[in-house]
Amino acid sequence: MILVARHGSSNDPEFSHFRSAVIKHKQINMSKTFKELGVREDLILGLQALGIIKPTEIQEKAIPFLLENSGDLIAQAQTGTGKTAAFGLPLLTKINPKSPEIQGVIIAPTRELAKQIGKQLFRYTKFSEKIFVEVLSGGDNIDRQVAALQRPTHIVVATPGRLIDLIKRRALTLISTKHLVLDEADEMLSMGFKKELLTIFGLTRGRRSTWLFSATIPDAIHSLIKDCMSEKPHLLKIDKAHVVNRDIDHRFAICSRDEKTEFISSFLKRQKENRGVIFCRTKAGSVVLGKQLTIKGFPIDVIHGDLTQKERDTVMRSFKKERSQFLIATDVAARGIDVEGLSFVIHHQLPEQIEYYTHRSGRTARAGKKGISIALIEPRERAKINN
Ligand code: AMP
Repeated sequence: MILVARHGSSNDPEFSHFRSAVIKHKQINMSKTFKELGVREDLILGLQALGIIKPTEIQEKAIPFLLENSGDLIAQAQTGTGKTAAFGLPLLTKINPKSPEIQGVIIAPTRELAKQIGKQLFRYTKFSEKIFVEVLSGGDNIDRQVAALQRPTHIVVATPGRLIDLIKRRALTLISTKHLVLDEADEMLSMGFKKELLTIFGLTRGRRSTWLFSATIPDAIHSLIKDCMSEKPHLLKIDKAHVVNRDIDHRFAICSRDEKTEFISSFLKRQKENRGVIFCRTKAGSVVLGKQLTIKGFPIDVIHGDLTQKERDTVMRSFKKERSQFLIATDVAARGIDVEGLSFVIHHQLPEQIEYYTHRSGRTARAGKKGISIALIEPRERAKINN
């Protein structure tokens, strides 16, 4: 039997609200508008088209500084705080579209993140004079990237290794770079990109500013900062709880491991047109669940880290084009899932790191829509939830 936790105020007796103080998304108290922060009107229109109306804390703190100063910035902020717009809007503002040179370089640890940043910048400039952004990430066809770089390019968003490869091939030069952004710098160091980053610092010596974003600031980051920053960079720290406030209904259901497939299956049956992602902690778990649900006839795809990049792309394309209604994903593979209109996220198991919970749940309730995030909790895990 599936034991369903209830909470007095819930309209739907099937789930109970997630009560964990750590997990719960907090309301952000925001006073300023993007206009007051100095963001240009055309970019504000681009933001509005994405349903982005009020600045988040990092945006409120970083944007005026970056627009008014040419100094360096270190911002401790995790995914979900709105950091992409925090550096993206000032960067776009500082680009001169009339000059065909690369003026801004954004380095990100993964291909998925690089693509996501590229897409965001493209969307922000929907109503602006054309600013050309090229995403140069590992795993994609390098010849195509070489060809793309023949066109005028103002900003490149790149993974470190691929950027160096392309420079070696003389497909681009960073000589005219004015602003360098390092996103998820801690991840880049833990992935072993220090050498590449040092090379990139050396190749962009003429830059005016360096903006470093990192969820954590371990010792290794301090040493990187010494290598790439001026003496007195501006420091910003964003509280972990200040993730973008979305309309996500957080719930959980108590069920044993054996009952999870049955629970998910009965939930999916009631979804009609609704689409969503089911997160698993392990690759093996995702494969098993995928088989079980496929046998039951659900239009489902599975994405995990053992698939080749090409296979992952095929799965994502199929999901985006709505050929499959549901997606099973592991955390690493899910990093860049950027699909609009997802109604729900199910956590087959709670993730090991709480940041992943936020990251997973953030796949739903995009662009002003509502979403539900359901965690399946085994009885022995009850202590993890504070209800
Ligand atoms: P990021 O931390 O940059 O990965 O952003 C996380 C998500 O929040 C993205 O889907 C953004 O489109 C969205 N977002 C960014 N800024 C805002 C904002 N001010 N209000 C609402 N959503 C936002």
